[in-house]
Amino acid sequence: MARESNAWEQSSKESISFNVLDCDLNVDLAIVGGGFTGTSAALEAARAGASVALLEAHAIGHGGSGRNVGLVNAGLWLPPDQVEAQMGVAPGRRLNDILAAAPEVVFGLIADHGIACDPVRNGTLHLAHSSKGLKSLKNRLAQQQARQAPVTLLDARETARRVGSGAFHGALWDRRAGTINPLAYNRGLARAARDAGAGLYENTPVTRISHQNGGWQLTAVNHTVRAQSLLVATNAYHEDMPGFRTPRAPKVSYFQMALRPDTACDEILSSILPGGEGCWDTGLIMTSVRRDSQGRILFGAIGRPNGAGRRIHLNWARRAFDRIFPQLASAALDGFWSGEISMPADHIPKIINFGPQAVAVMGYSGRGIAPGTVFGQRCARMLVSGQQDELPVDTAQSYAEAAVRAKSAFYEFGARLIHFGAYR
Ligand SMILES: Cc1cc2nc3c(=O)[nH]c(=O)nc-3n(C[C@H](O)[C@H](O)[C@H](O)COP(=O)(O)OP(=O)(O)OC[C@H]3O[C@@H](n4cnc5c(N)ncnc54)[C@H](O)[C@@H]3O)c2cc1C
Repeated sequence: MARESNAWEQSSKESISFNVLDCDLNVDLAIVGGGFTGTSAALEAARAGASVALLEAHAIGHGGSGRNVGLVNAGLWLPPDQVEAQMGVAPGRRLNDILAAAPEVVFGLIADHGIACDPVRNGTLHLAHSSKGLKSLKNRLAQQQARQAPVTLLDARETARRVGSGAFHGALWDRRAGTINPLAYNRGLARAARDAGAGLYENTPVTRISHQNGGWQLTAVNHTVRAQSLLVATNAYHEDMPGFRTPRAPKVSYFQMALRPDTACDEILSSILPGGEGCWDTGLIMTSVRRDSQGRILFGAIGRPNGAGRRIHLNWARRAFDRIFPQLASAALDGFWSGEISMPADHIPKIINFGPQAVAVMGYSGRGIAPGTVFGQRCARMLVSGQQDELPVDTAQSYAEAAVRAKSAFYEFGARLIHFGAYR
């Protein structure tokens, strides 16, 4: 099988490029990393009148933001009761409330800035892959209804009608959510930030950070950026920057395949997700399925599709896809790609206050479109206005889990084991 090729690159209607940094700069806010967090922060700060320099080591969307499934979900992956149990009731409720409203922020930015990222706001479906999965969805339903969230539990028949597959026991439909082309959204945020006056630089890895003379100094491609405030938004794709203590959390790999159905089966195809909902399931090793603007079906799962795991994961995915959609067994593989997800042990995102007027954000645990957008906005507001209460979570001074490599390997080993042995 050929090397990875990202379907979002082929279908993105937003295209943008930025120069390499070629001079020294003096700004109010420096941002390292051009994913959702960094570009949303750049837009927010520039709109508030701050001078901004965003430095990206590769291209905008190189990290998780350009490799994502594109499900704009409300809340975290953890159910809201668990968020409150882990963080404490008041801070947990505050985070739940902010993230419940976060898809509105994303779709608002898309509309305000005319971002051409194929938004479809018809909700997402959390699919029950087993009767146990259905039980856990009923529990989530009760928690969401207690918070007046617009969610509905669909029975197996209605789920089959919406998905075009009888493989599921039911689904939780969340009408706050929707789908986008995530790479196009990320590029659109970057374009809007540039239009608001921010300076963005690609192929500009930051290789050193220091705090001196009351300000921050960043070294990148033989130039210096001096800034009053600093946001590090490098998350799972962090590349070493001496002077900055890298937060350490395990990583989980996730891959997707784009399948192009035979055009002869147009009628069959129109029965697959006709409402355009994005879906993921309740399986321990999660899978996702959605359509894209080119009519392809994007099927994804946890696993690293290179090295020893490549054959196991890709063979499993093809068999699983054929089982869920036997009517599309002739669909041709039209690309596959993968990405890394930062997954702290408690699955709660972290904001690290690592120095004066400086924060780093990481650990969205696979829920980064809406959280990344609002965490970026709120960090920017805090760094520009100095108001700590803008932040959605309390800050920590550092974050370093033990045995990070072993835990990451454990996740991948589990995924291989299940994909090798199981055929759900
Ligand atoms: C395969 C996959 C599927 C996902 N699906 C979904 C989904 O459907 N819905 C959802 O909500 N979330 C999803 N997520 C999670 C979401 O994509 C991430 O949480 C989110 O993209 C993180 O955004 P970010 O801006 O914090 O980091 P990133 O997008 O990872 O950006 C970090 C950037 O920092 C840059 N960088 C690193 N080091 C340096 C340096 N030294 N100097 C300069 N730049 C540097 C990197 O090049 C990178 O571009 C998915 C993630 C993956 C990987």
